[in-house]
Amino acid sequence: MRGLMQGWPLLVHKIIDHAALYHGERQIVSRSIEGPVERTNYRDVRLRALRVAQALDRAGVKAGDRVATLAWNTARHLEAWYGIAGIGAIYHTLNPRLFPDQLAWIANHAEDRVLFFDTTFTRLVEDIAPKIPSIGLYVALTDRAHLPAANLPNLVAYEDLIAACDGDFAWREFPEDTACGLCYTSGTTGNPKGVLYSHRSNVLLSLMAASGGAMGLKASDCILPVVPMFHANAWGLAFAAPMVGAKIVMPGAKLDGASVCELLTNEKVTVTAAVPTVWLMALQYLEQTGRTLPDLKRVLIGGSACPRSMIEAFETKYDVEVVHAWGMTEMSPLGTMSVLKPGMRDLPYEKQLDYKCKQGVPMFGVEAKITDDENRELPRDGKAFGRLKVKGLAVASGYFKGEGAEAFDADGWFDTGDVATLDADGYMTIVDRSKDVIKSGGEWISSIDIENLAVGHPAVAEAAVIGVRHPKWDERPLLIVVLKKGAKAGRDDILQFLSGKIAKWWMPDDVVFVDEIPHTATGKIQKTALRERFGQYRWPQAAE
Ligand code: AMP
Repeated sequence: MRGLMQGWPLLVHKIIDHAALYHGERQIVSRSIEGPVERTNYRDVRLRALRVAQALDRAGVKAGDRVATLAWNTARHLEAWYGIAGIGAIYHTLNPRLFPDQLAWIANHAEDRVLFFDTTFTRLVEDIAPKIPSIGLYVALTDRAHLPAANLPNLVAYEDLIAACDGDFAWREFPEDTACGLCYTSGTTGNPKGVLYSHRSNVLLSLMAASGGAMGLKASDCILPVVPMFHANAWGLAFAAPMVGAKIVMPGAKLDGASVCELLTNEKVTVTAAVPTVWLMALQYLEQTGRTLPDLKRVLIGGSACPRSMIEAFETKYDVEVVHAWGMTEMSPLGTMSVLKPGMRDLPYEKQLDYKCKQGVPMFGVEAKITDDENRELPRDGKAFGRLKVKGLAVASGYFKGEGAEAFDADGWFDTGDVATLDADGYMTIVDRSKDVIKSGGEWISSIDIENLAVGHPAVAEAAVIGVRHPKWDERPLLIVVLKKGAKAGRDDILQFLSGKIAKWWMPDDVVFVDEIPHTATGKIQKTALRERFGQYRWPQAAE
């Protein structure tokens, strides 16, 4: 027997309708690309999104068409997302940190029809435009006064585009499983692959993100998503914040420590989210200036493993709770959050930190298991580690145009490419990306664990560990370190610091110092580049 409840379709534009009606005055603050901090609210964002929808409709954009954005987090970018999705077209976020050729490849693969871009990227857009014949309209996210002189066909200023429409337009109706957003994975192996979010998955993801078991968002919150909209769906915050009527602060192009901390303080931000590299800069800035974060209550850190020292610094020096999170583009991107369970707060702080360093417990809507290479499920004992596989309400069932089908099995499990443990309390710990684990004498060593310990050394700014060929053990860990400005430490100081904190056979056989560690377009340590750079590395005699 079927239930007798309404089939209220889960459509993303219902979120902005709700926000405009019930939280219309709530502010959206942006550090604009032109410079000043600008303010708007949900009522205006909705009206302007309707104008975007109307303009795209007039331009002949149809349901299912891909409309690309190459832009920082701003209110205009948010309006564009809702406007695009509201006619059944698909917002396609392009990551400006990719190489121009990669961007052109992705835009061609997606067959984008329109490109909205920030003027910061004008030269980049001019460079790639001739290689993307499918794009027929270029919209610079600015007004006429700031419209750059650019060699682009059909270039229009965003403010002119929407001024030409009156907003007397209704969102289109379509089923909830209609495609809504497209984001390509960084493609560390092979070509980038497109993850195609649906309206339904985005709405469910936002409910999940806002819920008490995850970010616990409320109308009284002020949220600063430092995590870019072009990376992994902005962790659902572009939908979850309006869903609850929270104030949003958009950081624009300035993600350095001083700029982020200025917004955190001036706008009285209560919740923020970003990858560890952003917080590394922010914490250094706070340390140098002696400033504090009086309003900030919670910081979400994910995208790469969050070092223990970072959690400790936020919590003990600045009284800000850290929620360590794990997820991926293919999961919209939320998977697990390291929220303490009842009773755990009574544990000694060092024990609490042990749990917070784990990537966390799957939220409702995410199923997770670990298997060996033969797909046999491994025990949830916190010791066995294997391939992490997931299912869920906002997990990809395949990639755009059928690429990468081998990651999805017949029972609907998606192989994340991560190696992890699951413990009896349900906490998942990432051991490594499967291609980054170090295989030493037939056993595995977690590069992440060593990196996280190494950055706890007071002189270390950043650390990376890679496996380097070894005549006896197959591979051994090499620790690569960037020192903090003006700080001094030698190989032996660092090894001494690690000694006793990890198993003896996990100890790096050598430490090398570099000026900079390369990062991927999504802020992760680029291990492939490090492996290339240190491919010819020879171990000191003693290590062999
Ligand atoms: P992306 O799709 O770019 O967000 O990358 C997803 C990948 O980032 C995951 O498969 C993990 O390898 C890594 N990752 C994300 N969050 C964490 C975390 N908290 N700890 C360790 N690795 C993480």
